[in-house]
Amino acid sequence: MNGITIALSKGRIFDETLPLLAAAGIVPTEDPETSRKLIIGTNRPDVRVVIVRATDAPTYVQYGAADLGVAGKDVLIEHGGAGLYQPLDLKIAKCRMCVAVPQGFDYDHVVRQGARLKVATKYLNIARNHFASKGVHVDLIKLYGSMELAPLTGLADAIVDLVSTGNTLKANNLVAVEEVMPISSRLIVNQAALKLKRETLGPILEVFTQAVEKIA
Ligand code: AMP
Repeated sequence: MNGITIALSKGRIFDETLPLLAAAGIVPTEDPETSRKLIIGTNRPDVRVVIVRATDAPTYVQYGAADLGVAGKDVLIEHGGAGLYQPLDLKIAKCRMCVAVPQGFDYDHVVRQGARLKVATKYLNIARNHFASKGVHVDLIKLYGSMELAPLTGLADAIVDLVSTGNTLKANNLVAVEEVMPISSRLIVNQAALKLKRETLGPILEVFTQAVEKIA
């Protein structure tokens, strides 16, 4: 396909990418929240948007099924980033990757004692690197969602998860005890497409860069 395909996930990433697309003169013709379509046209006949699961965006761009995409730093670290060019931090969908435990659990004491911690998370690579760099022994338990439930049921002592307002932790009597890293979403570009479609992609990247500087 000669045109440009952009991979976006529904929700915060789609919503917060819209102003950047608008700055580049690209306006999707449908809202993925109300449309069931997975391929959405834009006002530009040569640009389309594909709606993907957030964790799949790097895969679509890596294999060239999409030329451009937007993915959280968390998703990119877990994916590994192969085949991707990551030219720009879009500074959108900001949150923090945190270690959280049940209220009253003395995390610092357990860590100081050198005890083994059971940690449930969707983010195995991030969690492994974090605890390894601190020299904390952990057994990691992979979950696919609702990590907050793990410490409440005895599945794990702690979780590593994204925290935005902190409301989800609070509602489940959990507290963040450590920030692993700040998270925001990045623009990702297929490495081959960047060379082959430079004429079309170049101006879009340039406008995005300027728009991010203005918004930030
Ligand atoms: P909050 O209650 O606002 O702290 O949001 C926490 C929940 O939303 C967690 O279950 C997170 O997995 C999810 N979450 C928060 N921010 C993001 C983000 N930027 N990207 C993806 N998931 C997020």
